[in-house]
Amino acid sequence: MSGRTQKSGAEDLVTRTRAAVWHPCTQMKQLEALPPLAIARGEGAWLIDTDGRRYFDAISSWWVNLFGHCNPRINAAITDQLGKIEHVMLAGATHAPVVELSERLGKLTGLGHAFYGSDGASATEIALKMSAHFWRNAGQAEKNGFISLQNGYHGETVGALSVTDIPLFKDTYAPLLRPSVQVPTPDARQAEPGESADAFALRCAAALEAHLAEHAATTAAFILEPLVQGAAGMAMYHPIYLTRARELCDQYQVHLIADEIAVGFGRTGTMFAIEQAPALPPHPPGIRPDFICLSKGLTGGYLPLSAVLTTDAVYAAFYGDATARGFLHSHSYTGNPLACRAALAVLDIFASDPVLADNRLKSSAMTKALAEVAAHKRVRHFRQRGMIWAFDVADTGPDFANRFHLAALALGVFIRPIGNTVYLMPPYAVTPDELNWLAAQVLQALQRSLAIN
Ligand SMILES: *Cc1c(COP(=O)(O)O)cnc(C)c1O
Repeated sequence: MSGRTQKSGAEDLVTRTRAAVWHPCTQMKQLEALPPLAIARGEGAWLIDTDGRRYFDAISSWWVNLFGHCNPRINAAITDQLGKIEHVMLAGATHAPVVELSERLGKLTGLGHAFYGSDGASATEIALKMSAHFWRNAGQAEKNGFISLQNGYHGETVGALSVTDIPLFKDTYAPLLRPSVQVPTPDARQAEPGESADAFALRCAAALEAHLAEHAATTAAFILEPLVQGAAGMAMYHPIYLTRARELCDQYQVHLIADEIAVGFGRTGTMFAIEQAPALPPHPPGIRPDFICLSKGLTGGYLPLSAVLTTDAVYAAFYGDATARGFLHSHSYTGNPLACRAALAVLDIFASDPVLADNRLKSSAMTKALAEVAAHKRVRHFRQRGMIWAFDVADTGPDFANRFHLAALALGVFIRPIGNTVYLMPPYAVTPDELNWLAAQVLQALQRSLAIN
């Protein structure tokens, strides 16, 4: 026997991942101090590592998971599809899963003509290109600029990064990007003292109007994350902003792109966040954007897939005899049948189970369970919408995100704060008991990570 101690399965994988894998959104040197979890399997809201340790997936694996890991119904749908056809290109061919998914997404969104990509950033690229190309086909090629919200996030490929406003992700690549304009965010934390969230949202909408009044002639579209700006640190804003943005985009003839990549599929309490926009008579509640971008929860967190749906008017502007008038954009895996079947299984669950009603009960119970966290003397701006909770922590000292992350891991919870913002975005598969347990662990992790400082 050699004196060499046997490495655990997790340690072995961590060593090999550091040598062979370049991890996303990671300074690789930090993996020396912060090794990644070596996950062997998943079960409901839980991740289980190669040594059998269990971690509660409190952020739904980067906001994608809805109905738990290894969900039997989604597993069965993919398995069934595997026996039929795993993939066929969507140019010159079609198949039942992509047709059925497009029909059902069309009914749910009130839009249609679903165009598919493989991830969120590609959906953003598709919407931006379609919008500018629409104006070109309409004889207004000069309308090719884009507006987005301050602190907005729409993905990190070069086009999507151009309308993203997160300095840490963007500044390094600034020379590669086409400039876009950011208008003030209605993030309710930025309201003046005593100013209500809706008054502040309307004040921000006035700034949008001032910009449109001057620049509409060179603007193709305004892209925003409805209700919650995720990567900004779960910034939440009043839905009246959506209603005004829709009105102003109509008035100034600019497309409105709703990036529901993170908030779609029930995350904010309604199937889509845009449904919460209050009525402005004669318009009914909810707004209809010109484009909606979907991804993340679309497949329940199973497979990479994104979709952009649009209006008949946009579609019609591309339809004709000239090839170049068409939308000649493509990805090899566009409309992948396995991913479409996962998405159809997700829609089946929404159709057969009272998901949104159950989530309402879970979410009010969880907000109560987090009362002590919300009242903690270092906690600011505790906020909740649907199945998202977030709070900012004051006077944390340096490196709070990593300290909180490690404190939570030691308690069996996988959470990655954004700066000094802690947020929870559990899978809908979470049980009421698990939510109570989670709330208690968050309080503990907060106390531990502040005690060190
Ligand atoms: C995650 C996200 C994207 C990008 O999606 P990827 O699949 O990571 O490329 C775009 N917009 C929003 C709002 C997101 O949260």
